[in-house]
Amino acid sequence: MIKLHDKHFKPFLSEAQIKAAVKKVADQVAADYKDETPIFVGVLNGAFMFISDFLKEYQYPCEVSFVKLSSYQGLTSTGIVETLLDVSENIEGCSVIILEDIIDTGRTLKKLVHLFSKANVKEFRVASLFYKSEVYNGEYTIDYVGIDIPDKFIVGYGLDYNELGRNLREVYQLNQKHMINLVLFGKPGAGKGTQAEFLKDKYNLKHISTGDLFRFNMKNDTELGKLAKSYIDRGDLVPDEVTIKMLQDAVEKNPEASGFIFDGFPRTVAQAEALDKFLATKDMKIDATIALEANDEVLIQRLLERGKVSGRSDDQDESKIRNRFDEYNEKTAPLKDFYENQGKFHSVNGIGAIDEITHRLGKVIEEL
Ligand code: AMP
Repeated sequence: MIKLHDKHFKPFLSEAQIKAAVKKVADQVAADYKDETPIFVGVLNGAFMFISDFLKEYQYPCEVSFVKLSSYQGLTSTGIVETLLDVSENIEGCSVIILEDIIDTGRTLKKLVHLFSKANVKEFRVASLFYKSEVYNGEYTIDYVGIDIPDKFIVGYGLDYNELGRNLREVYQLNQKHMINLVLFGKPGAGKGTQAEFLKDKYNLKHISTGDLFRFNMKNDTELGKLAKSYIDRGDLVPDEVTIKMLQDAVEKNPEASGFIFDGFPRTVAQAEALDKFLATKDMKIDATIALEANDEVLIQRLLERGKVSGRSDDQDESKIRNRFDEYNEKTAPLKDFYENQGKFHSVNGIGAIDEITHRLGKVIEEL
C-alpha cells in the first residue's frame, strides 16, 4: 500500500504485466503499419511512459509527435478537456495513431477526433494502454487496447493523483476501503457488549472488549490476568499502562480489519489520548463515540440479573457495582467532553428492546 496526498493506493498491475501489455499493443500496431511510416501522436502528460516504452518496442520507421490534454482534477474527470499543444507537423495524407495512457468515458478521445478531423489524414487510429470498457461511451472505435481495467481510479506509470505518482513503475488502484472505528460508551450494564455483537456483524467490524480480554487472561491464569484480577474483583479500573498495552496488542493482531468497535475502552482521558495517538500512527482515527444512556437503578438490576447467569463476581455484589459506577463518574465520564470537543460524541437511549437499540445505533453509524 502507498499513500499519495491523503489517499491510499494498493498494487494493481506489476511492471511485468504492463510491459507485456505495451508489447502486445506495439506488435498489433506493427502488424498493420510496418510497411508505411505512421505518425504516433502521444497524449501528454499521462501517456509519457507508455509512449516511451511503446516506441522502444516498435522497431519500424515512424514519426513521433505530442498533444497535451487535460481533463482530470484530483480523482474526478471534470469534463473539461483543454488542448494545451496542437500537433504542428504537416500530417495531411499520413496515418495517425494516437497513443493514450487510458480511455475511460471517451471525452478526451472526442476532443482528439475533433482535433484531427480537419487535418485530412489518411487514417486515424487509437491505441490505449488502459481501457475502462465499463464506462466508455462507445462513440469511436478503440483500435488497440493493452488491458481492459475496471472503473477504479489508478495511478502510476505516468498516471497521477494531483500530480503525484507519475514516476511509479507499477500501477496502483485507489483503496476505497472505508474504515469505521467506534467507541461504545456507557456505564457497566448499559448494553455495550450486547450491542457490539450485533453491530460487528452488521458493519463488518472487529469487536474489542477490554473487559473480555481481562476475563480471558484471568481464566487462563496469565501474568496479565493475575495482575488485573485484584483490581477487577474490587470493581476498580486496571492501571492505564497495562490496559493501553493490551488494547494496542489486540488492534495489531487484526491488521486486515475494516474497522473496530472499542467496548469498555477508553475509560480514562489518558486512555483516550493514548488511543488517538496510537491510531494516528496507523493512519486510523475514531469516527464516533456513541453513549448508551440508562439510569443507575435500571443498570444495577440488569447487572445483578447478569451476575446470576454469568457468574462474574463483579456483577454479584451491589457495593462492587456501585464502586464501578463511582469509578465511571470520576474517571470515565470526563470522556464525554473529550469526544464532544472533537465533535464525535453521540448519545442513544439505551433503554428498550435490544433490536430497537441496535436500530438507534445504526442510525448514528449510517450518518457518519
Ligand atoms: P467490563 O467488562 O467492560 O465491565 O470490564 C470489567 C472490568 O475490567 C472493569 O471493572 C475494570 O476493572 C476492567 N477494565 C475493563 N476495561 C478497562 C479499561 N479500559 N481500563 C481499566 N480497567 C478496565
